[in-house]
Amino acid sequence: MQVLKFGGTSLADAERIANVARLIHNRRQQSRLGIVVSAISGVTNFLDQSMTHVLKGAEISELVQTLEKKHYAIIDNLSIRFSSIDVHALKSEVANYSKIFQDYLTGIQLLKECPPSIHTAVIVLGERLSVKIMEAILNALGLSILMLKSEDCIKTTEDAINARPIFDVTYSRFEQHIQSTHDILLMPGFIASSLEGHLTTLGRNGSDYSAALMAVGLRADLFEIWTDVDGIYSADPNIVKDAVLLPEMSYEEAMELSFFGAKVLHPKTIAPIAAHHIPTKIKNSLNLDAPGTFIHFKADYVSQFLVRGISHLEKVAMLSVSGAGMKGIPGIATRIFGAISRKEISLILITQSSSEYTIGFCVASADAASAKEALETELHLELEAHLIDSIECQEDLAVVSVVGDGMKTKRGVAGKFFSSLASVDVNVIAISQGAAERSISTVVEKSDALRSVLIAHQFFFNTRQEINIFLVGVGTVGSQLLRQIHSQQKDLARQNIEVKVCGIANSKKMILNKEGISLNNWTESLSRVETPSSIPAIINYQFKERLLNAIFVDCTSSEEVSLSYDRVFEAGMHVATPNKKANTDSEDYYQTLRQKANDRGRKFLYETNVGAGLPVIDTLQNLIKSGDQLIEFEGILSGSLSYVFGLLDEDVSFSQAVIQAREQGFTEPDPRDDLSGMDVARKLLILYRESGYHAEINDVIIEPILPDHLNDPSMSIDDFLQALPAYDQEIETKVLAAKAEDQLLRLVGEIRNGVCKVGVIAVDKSHPLYPIKGGENALSFTTQRYAPIPLVIRGYGAGADVTAAGVFADILRVASWNPTYQ
Ligand code: ADP
Ligand code: ASP
Ligand code: MG
Repeated sequence: MQVLKFGGTSLADAERIANVARLIHNRRQQSRLGIVVSAISGVTNFLDQSMTHVLKGAEISELVQTLEKKHYAIIDNLSIRFSSIDVHALKSEVANYSKIFQDYLTGIQLLKECPPSIHTAVIVLGERLSVKIMEAILNALGLSILMLKSEDCIKTTEDAINARPIFDVTYSRFEQHIQSTHDILLMPGFIASSLEGHLTTLGRNGSDYSAALMAVGLRADLFEIWTDVDGIYSADPNIVKDAVLLPEMSYEEAMELSFFGAKVLHPKTIAPIAAHHIPTKIKNSLNLDAPGTFIHFKADYVSQFLVRGISHLEKVAMLSVSGAGMKGIPGIATRIFGAISRKEISLILITQSSSEYTIGFCVASADAASAKEALETELHLELEAHLIDSIECQEDLAVVSVVGDGMKTKRGVAGKFFSSLASVDVNVIAISQGAAERSISTVVEKSDALRSVLIAHQFFFNTRQEINIFLVGVGTVGSQLLRQIHSQQKDLARQNIEVKVCGIANSKKMILNKEGISLNNWTESLSRVETPSSIPAIINYQFKERLLNAIFVDCTSSEEVSLSYDRVFEAGMHVATPNKKANTDSEDYYQTLRQKANDRGRKFLYETNVGAGLPVIDTLQNLIKSGDQLIEFEGILSGSLSYVFGLLDEDVSFSQAVIQAREQGFTEPDPRDDLSGMDVARKLLILYRESGYHAEINDVIIEPILPDHLNDPSMSIDDFLQALPAYDQEIETKVLAAKAEDQLLRLVGEIRNGVCKVGVIAVDKSHPLYPIKGGENALSFTTQRYAPIPLVIRGYGAGADVTAAGVFADILRVASWNPTYQ
């Protein structure tokens, strides 16, 4: 005997129902069958909601017609596929049940309430209808059917909704049919009745459970649950797109996963199956070739992963009883849990409290009020005597669990789980480890549940990672960055890293889209939107959407933007930027940012602040972290000035050198921005601070290149360029004086004896900066370890291309924790 259960998803329309019937017909060749069917997909929800709608004044006849039409349409369609179906008889069955539905709804309308017994009578109508349809088709296929009345077979406690089976009675009822000679024993799922004969149900999703009871009662040698997914996955595949299909698992793992919310199985289904060691498969009725998940006594297959699966349970409340006097109350835990169990409320988990003065546990939200009441009654004396301070109930929670038999022997599961939650800033309210070390559960806010599942799945299964970028500033670097991201997106996706740009803002407008903005035509999209650019709006968007691995990329040079980073960190985003303003702001703000980033576990990435794409900041940070100390620094830190001074070597006049550099795109539009030395001063300050020293931008000494009158910001660019030749002579004299000594002029930033200085110096051939020109940067660090020969980093240190590439590399660092990403 085999028992097969078909869920609503397998019976969603005529085509699926027909496929299921053929499947049953074929399987009959192998074995006699017990078949359990659920209601057609969506029908139970519809019936449930109808009762609420009627109480709110909905039109009964419309509801009845909806139910009727849905089933008539399916019957009409099936009659074309199976010509021997007696359509008339079948439709009159539907009409009968529709009439019953109508009568109940009218009763509810009159009563102005819906007693549990009526609720049950209505909600089971879906199964009553679907089983009739299945009987008609199987008959049409020539199979002999014995219809089992599930109320007669499955006997339960008195609860109208969510009743508990009385196992021995139930099994013996089924046993009476073991010898039946029919091809098929057909039964609706979900429906049962109490020993006194009152109608009950096994709770929502309960057809799985009905079928399990049938499988045990009929002593099935195989039990199959047919649904709409290929089997049990490492997480709900509707939530985690790249969840991993599990070929097999143990009964205990399946029990634990379903208990903690994996909807693919009703939570109580596996217990009777496991007790009788019935091999079980979860199969996909939409993909017959998929092998499915095999659930059996011991899953031997050794998983490459630390855990088997991740699930979450919503609609949970947590009750905590606390008070300084609790330690002295004898048997307090027994009394608390006794009071709850007398109310027949199930405990989802008991939390490990951090103090000895609190006992906490979770129940379904629906049970929260009555659990609280039970505790208040049980503990009223202690409450009056202030031995117990409070009984609190926290609502709107969820439980997220990781499950796997391997946890007992493998190390680091809890660590990985909590790191994953911390990485997306999820607040863990309580923790519980299953006694059998098969699961670890955390209680979180309901609003955090989905991203907790997603991030935990990423950490445990090393599958697809997301990086969600919000880019502010689409000038040369910003737009180059978007080009680079666009051209790499596919390649990165192949490495399981999905890079999405979810926000693009210029100084006027912005687009926000959590699904990702198409980079084919972002300029057009940006020109079309009306949304005004707003950093607070971006921050609020992230507060609301809580995107995983969100990163704020600032490609402006705006101080205003840099002053928002502290809020950006608070919203749980990383920051990557070539903008030097934040790191050269006050020492106070510099420290605040690091503190905020640390508190939130976010990254602050600014490798391109100095030397564009050259690995400067990272190298320096590693030196300092590993205990080295900066003694001296000397460097050419400006690509523009490297270019200008290189031309002076070749006897080009100063004004010509500046004009040429500008024409080649080596300088800012206003070359004075470079020639003022301020940009170099900022870079120098950043290096100084990275080396562990404290200073403000005003502490950096700038020996000006230009005379004061040329530096006047009120002078236009054209006027400046015209006035520049008058200054050529002065520079030429310096160049010639240097050359007379076999030296060249270089604009250098230096740190010496705690003093940061920017100025022009003459260097001879032996000096590491002598050959640096044409836009190249060179940075020479003399440290305790690198002395007397300094550590030199050299290469192109300017240009939109290399800067954007540096920012891109920073962005990818937020994924670097993943070992599959190398
Ligand atoms: P049926 O109507 O066949 O009983 P259900 O909707 O009750 O189907 O259960 C199947 C659904 O369970 C799947 O569509 C899937 O979204 C959900 N599910 C939740 N967790 C898991 C999991 N770990 N593996 C597979 N499916 C899961
Ligand atoms: N039809 C019922 C429900 O939707 C039982 C089931 O499908 O398992 O909850
Ligand atoms: Mg189900």
